[in-house]
Parts: sequence; C-alpha cells; structure tokens
Amino acid sequence: MLNTLRKIVQEVNSAKDLKTALGIIVLRVKEAMGSQVCSVYLLDPETNRFVLMATEGLNKRSIGKVSMAPNEGLVGLVGTREEPLNLENAADHPRYRYFAETGEEKFASFLGAPIIHHRRVVGVLVIQQKERRQFDEGEEAFLVTMSAQLAGVIAHAEATGSIRGLGRQGKGIQEARFVGVPGSPGAAVGRAVVMLPPADLEVVPDKTVDDIDAELKLFQNALEGVREDMRKLSAKLATQLRPEERALFDVYLMMLEDAALGGEVIEVIKTGQWAQGALRQVVGEHVNRFELMDDDYLRERASDVKDLGRRLLAYLQEARSQSLVYADNTILVSEELTPAMLGEVPEGKLVGLVSVLGSGNSHVAILARAMGIPTVMGLVDLPYSKVDGIEMIVDGYKGEVFTNPSEVLRKQYSDVVEEERQLAQGLDALRELPCVTPDGHRMPLWVNTGLLADVARAQQRGAEGVGLYRTEVPFMINQRFPSEKEQLAIYREQLAAFHPLPVTMRTLDIGGDKALSYFPIKEENPFLGWRGIRVTLDHPEIFLVQTRAMLKASEGLNNLRILLPMISGIHELEEALHLIHRAWGEVRDEGTDVPMPPVGVMVEIPAAVYQTKELARQVDFLSVGSNDLTQYLLAVDRNNPRVADLYDYLHPAVLQALNTVVRDAHGEGKPVSICGEMAGDPAAAILLMAMGFDSLSMNATNLPKVKWMLRQVNMSKAKELLVEALSHDNPQVIHSSLQLALKNLGLARMIGPGANKTL
Ligand code: PEP
Ligand code: MG
Repeated sequence: MLNTLRKIVQEVNSAKDLKTALGIIVLRVKEAMGSQVCSVYLLDPETNRFVLMATEGLNKRSIGKVSMAPNEGLVGLVGTREEPLNLENAADHPRYRYFAETGEEKFASFLGAPIIHHRRVVGVLVIQQKERRQFDEGEEAFLVTMSAQLAGVIAHAEATGSIRGLGRQGKGIQEARFVGVPGSPGAAVGRAVVMLPPADLEVVPDKTVDDIDAELKLFQNALEGVREDMRKLSAKLATQLRPEERALFDVYLMMLEDAALGGEVIEVIKTGQWAQGALRQVVGEHVNRFELMDDDYLRERASDVKDLGRRLLAYLQEARSQSLVYADNTILVSEELTPAMLGEVPEGKLVGLVSVLGSGNSHVAILARAMGIPTVMGLVDLPYSKVDGIEMIVDGYKGEVFTNPSEVLRKQYSDVVEEERQLAQGLDALRELPCVTPDGHRMPLWVNTGLLADVARAQQRGAEGVGLYRTEVPFMINQRFPSEKEQLAIYREQLAAFHPLPVTMRTLDIGGDKALSYFPIKEENPFLGWRGIRVTLDHPEIFLVQTRAMLKASEGLNNLRILLPMISGIHELEEALHLIHRAWGEVRDEGTDVPMPPVGVMVEIPAAVYQTKELARQVDFLSVGSNDLTQYLLAVDRNNPRVADLYDYLHPAVLQALNTVVRDAHGEGKPVSICGEMAGDPAAAILLMAMGFDSLSMNATNLPKVKWMLRQVNMSKAKELLVEALSHDNPQVIHSSLQLALKNLGLARMIGPGANKTL
C-alpha cells in the first residue's frame, strides 16, 4: 500500500497543472482500489459548492457541470462532516441525490473521504462500485490516507493555477496567499524575480577525456571566474555588512581552494573524468554528507556547496550568470536563497526576499535582517518557478506572501509600505523625543543586536540601550571559536558604540536551532536538549573565555550587563554566577580594572516563571525571552511553519505568565525587561507597558513604531486594555478586542496587516 501511495503521489506531483493532476488521481486510485468509479469534487470558494472536477467511471461530460452545496447529496455530507462515509447502497441514504447526467445510478456502493489541507476542506474523493457491498476497513484506510496525501498536492496545483490563470474553471489569475515563516520584518509590494540556480549540476553526465590538461585548464579558469565574482559580490555588500559578516564570502573562497573542494575536483579530473563530471561528483558527495546531518546549521552548508557547484558549472558551460532584468521593486524569489544571491540585485532595487527552503535562522535571513529587507522563509507551498514577473506582496512580520494581490490588498500594503517609509523619514524627529505616554509614563526602549549593521540602525532610531546582544551571531559566522582577544575586540566595538548607554550581552546561546559548524550538536529534540547555559556550564572553558572577554572589553566604559540564557533553575544560576565571579577575579588579577557588572537571567523557560522570586533575589535584573517562553508554554516549535498558527504570544497563558514575572520580580525590587519579538509589536507593547515592564527591547526596525504607539496611549488606557485582555480566555478574542480598541482610539495607522504581527 505504501508503495502504491508513494508512486501515485510522485506521479501527481509532477503534473503540469491541476487538471492533469486530478486526472491522474482518479485514474490511479480507481486502478489501485479496483473500483469502477473514482471522482474528485473540489469546493469552489466563490460559489461554496462541491464541483465534480475529474472522474473515471462517471460520464465525463458532467465534469464541471455537476455540483452540490454542502447541505446537498452525499458529497456535501462528507465535506461538512469532515469524515469518511462508507455505504453499501448509496440510494438508501436520506441524503442521496441523483444526478442523471453522471450515470451514477448504475453504482450502488459509495465510499467518500474529505480532502483537507491546513484544516480546510478543499474537496471530496469518492469511489463507487456496482455491487452492493460495504468497503472494508483496509479500503477505507487507503482512501483516507490517499486523500490526506493529495490535499497538499492539490493545494499546490491549485496555487500554480491561480498564479498563472489556470484556475479550475479557467477563471483566470487570482490572488493567492502562501504561509511561511518570518525571516526579516517589514512589508514589501513588488515584482517577483525568480533566481534559478545558474546551472543544473545534477544532470551533468559522466564523460572520459583524453586531454586531461585541457580539462584542468578549463576548471582553473572556472575557479578564477567564481573567485572574482565572489570578491566583487563581497565588495558590493561592503558598505552594508561588517567584515565578519562578509566572511561568508571568504568561506566560499576557502572552499574553492586546492586543499578543499577545488583540489578534490582536480584529483577526479586527473583520473580522466571531464571537468563538469568531476565537479558534479565531488559536489554531490559533499552535499550528501551535509544533507544527511541532523544538525540544521550543517544542513544549511549543503546549500552553500550546491551554490558554489552551480557557479563553477556556469563558468564551465560558459553560460555566465543569468542576465536577469530587475524591476525597481524587485522581490527576489528562489527555491533556496543564498547569501551570494543578495548581492546580485543592483543596489536600491531589492525590496523583498522569498525562499521556499530555510528558516528564520538561515544565514540569508540573518543578513536580510541586518540589511532591513522584508523576508519570508520556508514558503514550502509556493510554486516558485511559476511566479517570475508577477506582482507579489511580502509580509515579513507574519511570514506571508500574496501573489497577484487584489487592488484592495495592494492598496492596504502599499499604505503600510508608505507608512513605514514616512515613519522612517520622520525618524529624526522621533529619535530626539522620549518614549513617554501622554499621561507622563516613561518607557525606555532598547534594541536587540547581533550584527554590526544593527548598531548604526539602532543609533539612527534613538535606542536607549541594548537589551539583548546575541553573542552567538559572531560565533555563527566564524569557522572556529573566536579567541578571547577576538571576542574582546568584537564586544568592545559594541560597548563603545553605545557608550554610555548600557549594553546587555547574553552569554553564548547555541543549540536548538542555532548551531556552530565547528561545534555540531546532534539531537533528536534539540529545543529540549543541550541549549544555552546548559552547553556553557558543561564547557566552563568556553564560558570563562567569553565572560573574561566581556569584562576586559568594558574596561573604562563600564556599561556592560551580562545576561544568562535558558536558565531553568537556581542551580544553573549559581554555577554561572560562580564562574562569572571567577572570571572577574582573574581579569582583575591580570590588571584590568573593571567593576563587577550587573548580571541578569532570561526568563524563557516556564520553570523560571515559577521561580522568578528565587532567581530575582540572586541577580540584578531579569529579562523575559518571549520567543522561547511562548514556544515552551504552548509547546509550539517556533520555527515550524506547520504549527505557526498556534504560536501566539497573546495567548492568555503567555499573558498570565508575563504578568506573574513582572509582579514577582518587582516584589523582590528587581527591574524586569522583555527582549523577545513581542516587545517590538506596537499593540503588544501597550500591554507590556501596562504590566509594568521596566524596558522593552526589540529590533531596531520596530523601535520607532513602538515609540509612536506608546506616545499616543495613556498609561491609564493601557491598563484598561490589559485588564480587558486578561479577562478573555481565547487568544482570538484578545486579538480582536485589542484591535478594536486601537481602532477606536484612532490608532489604526499602526495596525495595518504589515504594521505588526498581532493584528
Ligand atoms: C527569546 O527567546 O525571546 C529571545 C530573545 O532569545 P532568542 O530569540 O535569541 O532565543
Ligand atoms: Mg531565547
């Protein structure tokens, strides 16, 4: 059964459009089940009727003509009950409806299964037979499994149709929405430019050659060509990225060297294989090795090797990189965006990025955030090869993309883009103004940083401190653990850039979805595994070097605060504090004159919520990591697009937890901040302010929006909104009531679809 299923799905997947896909489905399912009829009915969202779209066994002339409302016929019943229906004699059922044009009176038995994609019924799959008999359990299970597998395939084929005007009724191009994961915040309206891999390495055949030297020469030229391209791309991005970030290109260059991939290809050519074949072989081996790895970070490296392989092949084939035409508002779309692709678009033309593969943790998403380009990753349902040249909207806040947007939606998002532009323009004025509510409540707004680009942006936007410096970012773009001296230089740069404002440096938070290529962690369940403080306490040498570097970097500046991630209990905190004191003693013994910096813990594990008081007694401050806290409270993987709908920081449980943390921290007289994405959501920020958070830390892009919002809302009003939010037991109701309240306050300007994630 599994094999038959797999074969059918594979065949359907390669169909060019929905019609062909459905034709294959009915033919193959009928064959596999040995039935006399197989039909697919799809729900037309416009008419809300199940329309017969394909059949084997019924009269084909009735295709597109026979349809039924959800309250009509057996098909309607399967669709509304969202359950299979297995009948020995269909005509006996009270809901049976006879359609003369189908010729179905010949068939007695009926088995129907709903086709459900992302919780939505999209159609019904039916088999029928002449003889009166109940289908057995095995047959029912097969049909249910088949329809579950086909749901995604049908949705994909339908999406392709809507994009290219191949609608099920030939209705022409339609707006379609695709859900991925947020890569970089912001909204963009533009035109898609699909960047296909420059050359298809996988189809290169083997070929033996006599003139090995000629092949070697060809390959050396290709190597030089790609090296030159990399240098140019790196130079092109020089103004936007710090040397460390550009080091990604150095990694590419290193891979090309004789001791690495370049040398291996040369060795294969020397055996008599032509250059292209040798390249395919070596790249294939490397990619396979990387792709088999459990570690997200290392799997990402497979895409770097593939990208390099394609570039080399393009030179070998003399088919230089594609000469794409870039619109002024280019949205770059690729199956797998790579950092190198970003530099290909002429400066000033790139407004958005879309990648079918990857997550918010991919290098390309990190770079996109540093460059402030709205990005959506993991858009697995997007038929990307079909979207070139079409209009598109990228919502980097929600992780959504719309193709062929309607006039209304385009206008809505264009307004958001314009608002964002105006907000950005008005930044200078806002920058000098304090974040203070009309009734005088002062709310310090801090930034989260990681890349050098964040520093300049934070300063432009008037940040009052750094609430979270993710130290793992410089670690991630390195090839080995940076030495104490190297770390010192990086940290000093941060501390000096913001001095005298405070900079909160979080100790290394790796594991989970953040891995280091040179320190692989393979685990079945990495988010519940060796993460953050657990790793560094097991490796005190890493922790000590890092904290020593931080302390030394703060000499004379004294604006350092140290933050500990993933603390789940007192024992971890005590151990970490002990190590920090040891590092402090060491650096002072070495002659560095620094005071002991304030030390804080992140509250991002539910256990820490319940131990806020105990933790607060031992530290100087607390900072809530709402990204992880939401993930752990709701048991929803923050990077998994499938459960993204369930990930909601306005869930009543999350709000209650946050309220408790503030109350308990203040009860111990300790300040508490919040540095998860929630703090950068202008609507959520109102509730956080009302809870009593002492500062909000967010990405620099959102800071002016939050400041704008808080400068409009009285603290007394914010408290009312919080009381109301806490009184609801349903996240959706919380969203709607907050949205309504803000509209009534005339603050709709900030609650457009792209303006924030909440509403
Ligand atoms: C958080 O979990 O909210 C947080 C700020 O840390 P990170 O997103 O780096 O895990
Ligand atoms: Mg976290």
